[in-house]
Amino acid sequence: MRLETQLVNAPWEDPAVFLQLEGKSLAWLIDCGTLTSLRPRDLLRVNRVFLTHAHIDHFIGFDALLRMHLGSPGALTFYGPEGLTAHVQGRLAGYAWNLVEDSELTLEVCEILPHQVRWTRFACRRRFAAEPGPHDAHEGFLELPEGVILRFAWMEHGVPCLAWVLEEPDMQAVDPEALRAEGVPPGPWLSELKQKAAAGRLSGHLEVGGRSVAVRDLAERLLRSRPGRRLAYVTDTIFNKKTVAALRQVARPVDELWCEASYLHLQRDKARENLHMTARQAGRLAVELQASKLHLFHYSRRYQKDSAPHLAEAREVFPETLEPPRYGSPAS
Ligand SMILES: [Zn+2]
Ligand SMILES: [Zn+2]
Repeated sequence: MRLETQLVNAPWEDPAVFLQLEGKSLAWLIDCGTLTSLRPRDLLRVNRVFLTHAHIDHFIGFDALLRMHLGSPGALTFYGPEGLTAHVQGRLAGYAWNLVEDSELTLEVCEILPHQVRWTRFACRRRFAAEPGPHDAHEGFLELPEGVILRFAWMEHGVPCLAWVLEEPDMQAVDPEALRAEGVPPGPWLSELKQKAAAGRLSGHLEVGGRSVAVRDLAERLLRSRPGRRLAYVTDTIFNKKTVAALRQVARPVDELWCEASYLHLQRDKARENLHMTARQAGRLAVELQASKLHLFHYSRRYQKDSAPHLAEAREVFPETLEPPRYGSPAS
């Protein structure tokens, strides 16, 4: 299961990354900046949000998400650093909640501490009163649905702030040439084959093009193992030995690094003072993490409408620095 990443807004606007789960109707979000450019149907697909911290530019989209989900059943789960529960509670307390008791919506908040996660539930039909849930120990990662592993590292930004790492599970992919050689048209049997192979259920037979074929033989001929990728999302932090070491522990090597580049090297003192990074530092981080590619985002608003200087600066250190894929672009 692949995670397809798209930056919701321009790199100099509020950060939010829309994560589509390949072949699934669900989607996830990393950070929750302004979400007005997300189509309503895509907002409704979101069921998990990974928040780095509660500064307004990363959290202002909370209301848009809540408003869209209010009438729908199910749960919206928020993951974030210490203090997240109080921030969610504060946002919910800003509204009156009578007349919506028939809504089935529930918010689940997962606050991540160094050795423990603390769950809190806010159910709409209880007027979003906080209901404390379990405190579970963790060993540096959480298992998410679809076989995805979530890791995290603490950044330095003056407030609790987490960097996120998402690891895809290994996948069984169909080899198109082998499929052509098989001489049968693709169909629902292919997903069944992939599901069986992923679960290790290779005994038995499948009906393919009117023939009964052994699953094990078919899997050997048609499927190739595709290793899962590791994605990292790093923003709102000073770049120093401590933050780099924390990231190396959870994200080295990394396939896709998303990194803030609030400033250019010329303003490096300002970056340090404001607990942010420069484009050059993002490039250095990509080298440290042995990244395959780097996407820059979250530029200071002073750099509106021009990505070129940031990209050029990071490329001097790390050539595989690319424009981030954008939500709503023709390719998406
Ligand atoms: Zn911040
Ligand atoms: Zn920020």
